Amino acid sequence: MNLKTYLPGDTSSAGQPITLGVMGGGQLGRMFVQAAQAMGYTTAVLDPDPASPAGLISHHHIKTPYADEAGLAQLAQRCDAITTEFENVPAPALLALAAQRTVAPSAACVAVAQDRVKEKAHFTDCAAISGVSPAPHAVITTDAMLAAVPADLLPGILKTARMGYDGKGQARVTTREELAAAWDAMDKVPCVLEKMLRLRAECSVIVARGADGATVSFPVQKNTHHDGILALTEVFEGALDPALAQRAQASTVAIADHLRYVGVLCVEYFVVESATGALDLVVNEMAPRPHNSGHYTQNACDISQFEAQVRALAGLPLPAPRQHSPAIMVNLLGDLWFEPNAVRTQRTERATSPPWAQVLALPGTHLHLYGKLNARPGRKMGHLNITASTVAHVRETTAKVLALLGLPAMGA
Ligand code: ATP
Ligand code: MG
Repeated sequence: MNLKTYLPGDTSSAGQPITLGVMGGGQLGRMFVQAAQAMGYTTAVLDPDPASPAGLISHHHIKTPYADEAGLAQLAQRCDAITTEFENVPAPALLALAAQRTVAPSAACVAVAQDRVKEKAHFTDCAAISGVSPAPHAVITTDAMLAAVPADLLPGILKTARMGYDGKGQARVTTREELAAAWDAMDKVPCVLEKMLRLRAECSVIVARGADGATVSFPVQKNTHHDGILALTEVFEGALDPALAQRAQASTVAIADHLRYVGVLCVEYFVVESATGALDLVVNEMAPRPHNSGHYTQNACDISQFEAQVRALAGLPLPAPRQHSPAIMVNLLGDLWFEPNAVRTQRTERATSPPWAQVLALPGTHLHLYGKLNARPGRKMGHLNITASTVAHVRETTAKVLALLGLPAMGA
């Protein structure tokens, strides 16, 4: 990776303003575009959806499929440096762009993150340095491998090697019969069977690594999922055991270093109880981009994960981020648009806006909506970052927000 620097406000050799591009126009692309534009960059987005959240606000929006040669050529022509906002971007597309422009993270790094088999192998390789291993697991690509699965991996979770997100492409299985049926139902695509662990907590770490190898870490986030989707992230002293948090940070830096990663990387961890009753860490998966669990950085840190992504891509300095406020992030799913305060199963068909005026009347609430035109249950529409000067206050405000939105109370 070269050490090229693209200063905001400069012009490129072709005489056009320095332009940063992103593959994918979802909410993560939108927040990258917002951070880049705030710093004075021109932006370009490639996403086939004419109403994509990032496409709607970018200077340029190329509306072709991700593997479309003409679209990729146009993106390369427009941009000086290009990143991605999702891991399922076709690797050949990133390679084609990298032949002409700075691309970070690299196609090779994205390829590891988009395949659970490669990802787990990478984590296992890193375990000697990082001290954190993945869950016990077996790769299943043939009937013979299915038959050879060790009994102690059951009960387990069968996960497709590719294209899974928000708990999709997963089946919980208890017996060999259920396992075989689940793999059949997945059309026998390559899978990983993971032992079902008793999770005490979940956490994640975001790091940003520059082309010079310098790496900075954001604080460790404690995450709560509902139905396989992130619901809440808490980041403040006392949310997690400090020794575990330190190990998670060190492990994430090792995982990024070992890949010679450039850009923002998020690694998710499980906190489990070991045989001796002590708490231990297990590494789950990684995302080669900013992550939903890092959204609190927008309002609680002096540099957000999106600004870090811009800086890493543009070759700008990456000072260590500082969290200045305790924070809680609440995800806003489309369910909230269907009858405020209704429990999910009783929602009405008519979409209405959640009670924003009441929510925003509470001090320290920061609303981020992604500009998605249609609310659908389970669809990520936005998030709320809640900050305060003390942990007690941030928890108190969050409790009020959750009640206003009709969401389950924390710890419920
Ligand atoms: P993401 O939206 O984060 O990409 P994903 O669909 O890729 O999610 P995972 O993160 O692997 O899937 O799993 C989703 C959730 O399911 C985890 O956050 C965790 O709550 C639970 N889970 C996954 N694997 C295990 C396991 N081995 N043992 C217990 N719970 C698990
Ligand atoms: Mg996950």
